Amino acid sequence: MKFATKAIHAGQEPDPSTGAVMTPIYQTSTYWQKSPGEHQGFEYSRGTNPTRRALESCLAALENTTYGLAFSSGMAATDAVMKLLRAGDEVITGNDLYGGSYRIFTKIFAQYGIKFHFVDLSDPHRVQDYINDNTKLIWIETPTNPTMQIIDIAAVAAIAKANKVLLAVDNTFASPYLQNPKDLGADIVMHSVTKYLGGHSDVVMGALMLDDEDLYKRLWFIYNSCGATPGPMDSFLVLRGIKTLHLRMKAHCENGRRIAQFLKTHPQVGKVYWPGFEDHPNHEVAKKQMRDFGGMISFTVKDAGLEKTFKVASSFKVFSLAESLGGVESLINHPATMTHASIPKETREQAGVTDNLLRLSVGVEDIDDLLEDLETALKL
Ligand SMILES: *Cc1c(COP(=O)(O)O)cnc(C)c1O
Repeated sequence: MKFATKAIHAGQEPDPSTGAVMTPIYQTSTYWQKSPGEHQGFEYSRGTNPTRRALESCLAALENTTYGLAFSSGMAATDAVMKLLRAGDEVITGNDLYGGSYRIFTKIFAQYGIKFHFVDLSDPHRVQDYINDNTKLIWIETPTNPTMQIIDIAAVAAIAKANKVLLAVDNTFASPYLQNPKDLGADIVMHSVTKYLGGHSDVVMGALMLDDEDLYKRLWFIYNSCGATPGPMDSFLVLRGIKTLHLRMKAHCENGRRIAQFLKTHPQVGKVYWPGFEDHPNHEVAKKQMRDFGGMISFTVKDAGLEKTFKVASSFKVFSLAESLGGVESLINHPATMTHASIPKETREQAGVTDNLLRLSVGVEDIDDLLEDLETALKL
């Protein structure tokens, strides 16, 4: 089945008891058993729920994997992957990560004796320098947040395989519409479903998609034991959101392209970070592993300090100043004080997250209104 058909149908069949075309919201915590252990595959909703199961099948189909697991947030999904590790294990990861990932690695899992290496992976071969007998996991995000670096997934996957190390890819920024890490060799695909998959800024959710049965069983054990699983109402909202994922992504990419080009030549703008530019350092890799370049763009306000940058960020009418991304509405964010505030200033600036950097999540509104809004804000 092709992507658009999967987005609308995968995991969903008319409800056997009523014929309802939409998967019902099975708002139940527990399930009747005819005699102890004699049930229809559902015992207790922390572990299994029919609405969530339909969503998990749909998510797996979108990433071309066998298994999908939905979590109550993206961070809960990341947390579950980290719980595969033991004290003494080492992880190699990027140096330009989602702030919450950096925080859970350094403030939670480092305390349990897990060692993290934060490496600039724009050259994927640098992974090799950090691999030793204790390396158990490589965790990458591409495009990176917020400076839109591109990491060559297939190249990292080849090194991971050769060294028998698991590779997990946070595919939130690209969405499964633009990029499928499993097909490039990743073992685990992670999503903050909150973003493009949900798509309407009304649900917080995460997911893991994977093929390996043994790994799935280990992750399901963590999922059921730790219990960060989403409820049926949220599962329904995401199933509904995914039905338009392909339509939304097309519009995000079109608007994104127009805005990136507009910013690139604007006199008040310094750097523009967007993988669709031919002079982006890893444009060729982006072209190879992504189907288009998406609606995430970061840029610096030329010669601006914190004060001027705040003024620009606060003067939009259509873009809302808010954390998060991937919804139908356009958002603007100041990474240094919002999404990336938990990263120490020096580490953050090394990764390009300077005080004059702004990040746009370009929505699917009319492009003329978005361009006018940017033009007005940048006049300040
Ligand atoms: C938002 C986000 C997360 C965390 O997901 P939540 O759903 O907010 O817990 C992880 N990675 C990336 C790239 C994100 O944008």
